[in-house]
Amino acid sequence: MISPATISAVFAAADIIDIIGSAIQLKRKGANHEGLCPFHNEKTPSFMVSASKGIYKCFGCGANGNAINFIIAYDKKTYPEAIECLADRYNITIEYEKNTQAAAETRDTKKEMHSILKYCATQYEAALYGPEGQTALQYLYGRGYTDERIKMWGMGFAPLRDFKYITNPIINMGKLSTAEEMGIVKTTNGISRDFLINRITIPIHDAQGTLTGFAGRIYRPEDDKYPKWINPPNSLIYQKGQQWYGLHTAQKAIQQQGFAYLVEGYPDTHAMQDNGLTNTIAPCGKEIAEEQIKYIARFTRHIVFIPNIDANQSGQKAVLKHINRFIAAGLRTSVIQLPHSNDADEYINLLLNQKLQAV
Ligand SMILES: [Zn+2]
Repeated sequence: MISPATISAVFAAADIIDIIGSAIQLKRKGANHEGLCPFHNEKTPSFMVSASKGIYKCFGCGANGNAINFIIAYDKKTYPEAIECLADRYNITIEYEKNTQAAAETRDTKKEMHSILKYCATQYEAALYGPEGQTALQYLYGRGYTDERIKMWGMGFAPLRDFKYITNPIINMGKLSTAEEMGIVKTTNGISRDFLINRITIPIHDAQGTLTGFAGRIYRPEDDKYPKWINPPNSLIYQKGQQWYGLHTAQKAIQQQGFAYLVEGYPDTHAMQDNGLTNTIAPCGKEIAEEQIKYIARFTRHIVFIPNIDANQSGQKAVLKHINRFIAAGLRTSVIQLPHSNDADEYINLLLNQKLQAV
């Protein structure tokens, strides 16, 4: 548990205008500040912030609270997460109560996991543009990715390199056990090797934009015998139940538009978001966990399904199965049925230009 001293220090340091002002645009109005409410859709501001009282209130939807409540509601954080986030922002050292030594250790492990992932991201991105990544890079160009888009989505390449492209440096850094714990390095019979090998890598972030793992895709026809995609295993920092791909970039648009497009895969998400349909997310993997549905309900109550254009009968049944589960969880659902086409850009243009009606 975070110590009461830390909590009071955070409350004392939290500047509500600074905190809310970095999320939405605020304008001074008399003694207060006003802006467009981030919790409901509006064109004229009814959202007021009082610096002297340290509170906000929306006269449209009734949302109200202090700086901590705002972080919890806007960034979808728990109370301790909000305190940690603000402590970080105002350079306050967090003290934990003694009986939670284990919690502090978990925190250190998470920190090390994040640093390993950051290292991997740099290595994978470098490899894509190195000699080993040439075929993968050409494959991405062939799929319509430009250098700019590749960079924006942080795509990279996990080369073969004796199965130890990232394993060897991680061993040298003394971080093998943490890397094993998060599944980025696999050890069997005493032999350690990379989890992702000879695949295009796509970084996955949580809703706050923190890197939590990598998915890997095959890119050569001769690898068709392997799974097309590999997703990260569950770990301290990656829980499939709390993971929706694209959510950190989609979040604001989902809030503004009041719904999320749900597509099937990573490239679909890229194509949609890059074409202005920013409120698009995808599950990480084919299955959608019960917790994932509960988690997305924190962000929106309306999901618009876009089943894959080449979806066969079984694919459509799978989508329908998911829809029922979303409905059972109290969400509103719609489906956009796309005409058969193999070109992602084509159907996005249809969505954008002809404004297909959800059915
Ligand atoms: Zn409001």
